Amino acid sequence: MTNNNIYFIANWKMYGNPASLNTINNVIKLTKSKKFSKIKIVYCPPYTLLGNFVKKTKKSKIFVGAQNCHYESEYGAYTGSINAKMIKYLGAKFVIVGHSETRKQGDTNNEINMKIKSALKSNLRIIFCIGESLYEKRKKKTKTVLLKQIKIGLKKIKNLQNLILAYEPLWSIGTGIVPKNIDLEKNINFIRKNLNKLKNGNRIKIIYGGSVNPNNVKNLSRIPGISGFIVGGASLNSKKFIDIIKKSII
Ligand code: PEP
Repeated sequence: MTNNNIYFIANWKMYGNPASLNTINNVIKLTKSKKFSKIKIVYCPPYTLLGNFVKKTKKSKIFVGAQNCHYESEYGAYTGSINAKMIKYLGAKFVIVGHSETRKQGDTNNEINMKIKSALKSNLRIIFCIGESLYEKRKKKTKTVLLKQIKIGLKKIKNLQNLILAYEPLWSIGTGIVPKNIDLEKNINFIRKNLNKLKNGNRIKIIYGGSVNPNNVKNLSRIPGISGFIVGGASLNSKKFIDIIKKSII
């Protein structure tokens, strides 16, 4: 991959405390180097650290995003929830929607569609995650599942240029297993073909997520059509995250 507008999304999941912020100092330094001036890094810490991250990265080129949002765009009686408006208010610019770990907690494709609409209303950019489970893969249902997630997730959404689609096979997240390049390329092409059928769908960048680490990223970077990575576990370790970034730029 060239370094032109390549995305590296750091999904910190339910990890981190205020002291963890110091670990990103070297990542901030990296973004100041000319060689990496065009890459886009988005840190997605837990809600509790969003404000700290915005402050910490203020003078850098790093963006901050939330890991989820409620589908309701206005304030309301939804105990324990955070909506896009609140995320925007904190200064974050991105939000992950449809991550398999939040789908597991009950998110439906319809709710994900509502979340995307509500995030767009608040002018957030969206990292829209899709992916098949191991069971679905074994049953040869991958394409059906991906297509359904795309169709319902993006139903009646017009400003698609504010979306990044993250293809994350569930069986690859946190398992250390990555798909073979040939299979990944096939699925990326399938996603691309279907996104291109939507108005401005060709503006959506596709990134890959699932056990990306410094050892496999170079190989994954060779796959045409991938514009970056969503990195979970390895992004908690800045040395590994920097290694991933450096090794993916060919
Ligand atoms: C993720 O959380 O989206 C992810 C890809 O995690 P990991 O890199 O740990 O597989």
